[in-house]
Amino acid sequence: MSAIAMTLVLLSTLAFFSWSMFRRTRQVAIGKSDPRFEWTPEQIFDRSKKVLLVALGQEKMWKKKGYLAAGFAHIVIFGAFNVLLLNSILLWGRGYDYDWNFFFGLLSTEHLLGQLYSFAKEMAAAGAMTGALIFWYIRLSKKGRDSGDPKEVGDRPRMTLGLEPNVILGIIFTMMFADFLYVGGHVALQAQATGQEIHWAWYEPFGSALAMAFSGMGEGTLRALEHAGFWWHAAWVLLFLNILPYTKHFHILSVMPNVFAYDRQPNALPKVEDIEGKLERDESLGIKTIRDLTHTQILDLYTCTECGRCSDNCPAFITDKVLSPKHFTLALRDHLYASEYAMFGKSDDVGRPQDARRPDAPALAEEDAREEIHTFPKPPAGAYFLQAAADVELLPNVLHPDVIWSCTSCRACEEQCPVMISYVDKIVGMRREEVLVKGEFPHDLQRAFNGIERNKNPWNVSNLDRADWTKGLDVPLMSENPGAEVLYWVGCAASFDDRAKKVARSVVQLLQTAGVDFAILGTEETCTGDPARRGGNEFLFQTMAEGNVETLNGYDVQKKTVLTACPHCFNTLKNEYPDFGGHYDVVHHTDFLQGLLVAGKLRPTKPVKAKVAFHDSCYLGRYNQVYESPRQVLESIEGVELVEVEYWNKQQGLCCGAGGAQYFMEETGGTRVNKKRTLQLLKTGADTVASGCPFCMTMLSDGLKGEEREDVRQLDVAEILAEAVVLRAAKPMADAAE
Ligand code: SF4
Ligand code: SF4
Repeated sequence: MSAIAMTLVLLSTLAFFSWSMFRRTRQVAIGKSDPRFEWTPEQIFDRSKKVLLVALGQEKMWKKKGYLAAGFAHIVIFGAFNVLLLNSILLWGRGYDYDWNFFFGLLSTEHLLGQLYSFAKEMAAAGAMTGALIFWYIRLSKKGRDSGDPKEVGDRPRMTLGLEPNVILGIIFTMMFADFLYVGGHVALQAQATGQEIHWAWYEPFGSALAMAFSGMGEGTLRALEHAGFWWHAAWVLLFLNILPYTKHFHILSVMPNVFAYDRQPNALPKVEDIEGKLERDESLGIKTIRDLTHTQILDLYTCTECGRCSDNCPAFITDKVLSPKHFTLALRDHLYASEYAMFGKSDDVGRPQDARRPDAPALAEEDAREEIHTFPKPPAGAYFLQAAADVELLPNVLHPDVIWSCTSCRACEEQCPVMISYVDKIVGMRREEVLVKGEFPHDLQRAFNGIERNKNPWNVSNLDRADWTKGLDVPLMSENPGAEVLYWVGCAASFDDRAKKVARSVVQLLQTAGVDFAILGTEETCTGDPARRGGNEFLFQTMAEGNVETLNGYDVQKKTVLTACPHCFNTLKNEYPDFGGHYDVVHHTDFLQGLLVAGKLRPTKPVKAKVAFHDSCYLGRYNQVYESPRQVLESIEGVELVEVEYWNKQQGLCCGAGGAQYFMEETGGTRVNKKRTLQLLKTGADTVASGCPFCMTMLSDGLKGEEREDVRQLDVAEILAEAVVLRAAKPMADAAE
């Protein structure tokens, strides 16, 4: 074609791309190192496997329910880019040599290998054009999930037809068509030169069809068409590459490193080391400024595809709270980009927001700064501000505090995100800074913190009453039976909440009926610290964790099974106490009861006539993948008909609204999460709602009361099983209390 033109295009675009990548890389470098990331053979193997599955295998695109069209469109475009990469290199080579080909001409269409590649390339290009059309349709129809029901995904659109996606989709569509144009012009010219007739060829179905359409055109016109197709494809690939670092499509380049660096322990929050020392030295305890993010968390910001799946599935977003996880990420990303000059400009720029602002940045704290963000009803005082300067505090300058206090830590966003972006670690990191350093947090939480600190439970009831629920049940204490095989960790809810106490009694009766050798800690048990940790009070959590580990290790619990009926205790004991020297075999009661059923130690002989919808607790399901055991226990009971909530079940289960210490805070803004969840459960037509968590139980019971549906029973799985089993006799609770 033209060696000079091709050299100029290659040098200029690659030089600018290198500069852009240098800018993005140096911003990743300002982050802190991730203590969980290690270059060990085990981690490298595991992380590489994740890259193969999630980044290259597009696992979340085809596995997740509800996004069939978008998933298909993404997969075909992704596949096309991979197939067409070879074609782009081929075209760059032809800039220097008109007939150049790979592998000594083996990829020419005169050989079968070349014909097969040519066919794959044309099919891939056609697939990418179809994918682009599907994305346009999704954006024009403003659909969230495939169901498209705005009531299901919240009334707030989280996807708009902005300029950037239009330009990118336009480039993809026309670039693919340009390749057909180039082939068509090229084939027609060659036929003209050799005097041969043009035939449709299976290996160039679109290109040869165009060549047939072009037959009869003059040489000049054909050469113009060939050149137009060639340069549009060969040069636009390079221009496209240069656009990537400045758009959401940067994920094309950042997704592999981001997935490689993924958080391998999303169910355990990272431990803050040396809290007191950090406080003395005035060091950050969480995330205060953008510099407090880890390298991985900064990569997250680069990698967001803006698909909105996180927000579609977020209980806060779909009940109209100010939190939208997608916009949380975008606000941080925009702030990071806007802070670049402050970070790397003249040293006296740092920390001076006005001086550091990029020329085109909107006014500080301007609510309509990002049109897309504010297409939904405006949050109070603006939830997302765009403010430059690397050392500005993120709260309240970049994010409204209500954003982080609306999160239930349910991990629905993380479950959905196709590029493995994390949220809970960032949100709790910000809460830590608010609670431990600034002392600014919802005042209801203070009551729970005080309760845990003074009485070892967030209800602030005397810990001396902790084992009162056992009256009449003959439950041994660990101090009386230190050799017990199973430690039943009761948890604060089942110890102090009247409704949850009944669940604990059912669990104990089932254990006794099955002949399990167990004991409880009684007054030696204290709160695991979960609400304190999720609420940002890491100091209080660590105090509780250290105390509990000392007690448990004192009874050699490492050699026993720890059984608990609370998913929050379950997750903390199992996944977070190892950081404090507590390594235990922890089992949730639904798993344990299922084991007793399989072993024939429990026999559900009495039919229970009920249509049951099981509610998946986030800390049991998404955090620990326990989905089947509760269902299997219910299915083992004659008369029970198990029904599922449409879409919102198992991995997609909607939070009840209690997680992330929300149980101890007043829910503000929008509709209540438990109402939304209750309505989903009621839609199944169930007459019984089953759960395996005392916090979910309270939220759903309140939801049923709110809907005046007290005719629907709300029971724990253990209670339903207890109805079906002939239990060892025990005094009813009221009699026992007398
Ligand atoms: S963890 Fe749950 S509540 Fe928090 S942002 Fe993610 S989806 Fe929303
Ligand atoms: S965080 Fe993940 S799920 Fe949410 S918009 Fe970005 S890429 Fe999509």
